[in-house]
Amino acid sequence: MNETQWIHELLDSSGSAIGFRVREHLHHEQSDFQTIDVYESTDFGRLMALDGCWMVTQRENFIYHEMLAHPALYSLEAPNHVAIIGGGDCGTLSEVLKHDSVLSAIQIDIDERVTRVSEQFFPELCASNDDPRVSLLFEDGMAWIAGCDEGSQDVILVDSTDPVGLAEELVSETFFRQCHRALSDQGIIGMQSESPLLHVELLKTLRLRLANAGYSDIRHHLFPQPCYPSGWWCITLARKSGQFQDTPCRNVNERMECRYYNAAIHQASGVYPTYLRAAFDDE
Ligand code: SAM
Repeated sequence: MNETQWIHELLDSSGSAIGFRVREHLHHEQSDFQTIDVYESTDFGRLMALDGCWMVTQRENFIYHEMLAHPALYSLEAPNHVAIIGGGDCGTLSEVLKHDSVLSAIQIDIDERVTRVSEQFFPELCASNDDPRVSLLFEDGMAWIAGCDEGSQDVILVDSTDPVGLAEELVSETFFRQCHRALSDQGIIGMQSESPLLHVELLKTLRLRLANAGYSDIRHHLFPQPCYPSGWWCITLARKSGQFQDTPCRNVNERMECRYYNAAIHQASGVYPTYLRAAFDDE
């Protein structure tokens, strides 16, 4: 690739596209599960795509990884044991490890190649992988959660691809029930839950399934994410017991050097636009 060109992820379901200007195609492979591509872009650093869907850019992945990790972990006084299902690029893992209370962090991604490619092209996301608290497992999250010890995890974060194909079962009621069993009494599940603009019906489905699976409270946190469909993303949190507070339950540690998350963002991201509140009130 001598000069720059534009690479687009075409979103048939929403009649839109997400494009980046790139100067080099750094890597392509077909793993046992998906295609993995890495590009060097002109303005967003390196980009990773799985099956042609943008997953990570160096310029703005911090927003997503901080927002998947910190609203959940800052909803508990002292989360000790955390599991990440998916998350193969290791960005969420690196955020989880910023919490001093975390004693173990298990990452279960079905595709080892995603992690190995991330180690090669996104070393900054993998810098904490040698932390003694870390266990990297490479298997289907559905199989792992079925065998997970009861009450063993304080937080389970689902950092999966879109809820189709490989990841389709990771939004099922069965999966949420398995997570409920695996969580400690105060435990919290957090998951990437797509776009609050494009995927309202999915959010309503998640809320119904989580309620049916016995979770006591559900909270969404909305945030900008340029590389994902609509540029507006959200995570969904659900707790095994008790109610979420609007603010972090403990002081946000400035030493964590978060570039997006802070106590005000925690509270503000949990405020819903009128149409979304109405959609949830209709339940
Ligand atoms: N931030 C991205 C997003 O929101 O779309 C997710 C990034 S991460 C790379 C997604 C990971 O989910 C991939 O590495 C993929 O291999 C993993 N994955 C998909 N289905 C899975 C499953 N059933 N069990 C474990 N990992 C899975």
